Amino acid sequence: MNFGKRLAFHLRYAPGVSQSAEKGAGLSAAGLCAECVHARRIESSHGSVFYLCELFHTDPRFPKYPRLPVLSCDGYKKKL
Ligand code: SF4
Repeated sequence: MNFGKRLAFHLRYAPGVSQSAEKGAGLSAAGLCAECVHARRIESSHGSVFYLCELFHTDPRFPKYPRLPVLSCDGYKKKL
C-alpha cells in the first residue's frame, strides 16, 4: 500500500463543511485536532491558524499539518 492510500485510511476529512453545519454538529473548524493531545496550534503573523500533529515525528501515517477539518483519526486522543 502506498503512502497516500495509507494516509487516506487513517485520516478522514470532510469534502467541505459549511459554517452552519459545523455549528449544528458542535465541531470547530479544525475538527478533532482542536481537542487532541497530539495537536499544537500555530497562528501565523497573518492570522492563519494551523494545527501541527506531533505524531508526525514518530509515525509516517500522520502528516505534519493535517488538512482540516479532521473528522476521524486513529491517533486522536482527547485532551483532559
Ligand atoms: S493525531 Fe489526528 S486528531 Fe490528533 S492532532 Fe494528529 S491528525 Fe489531529
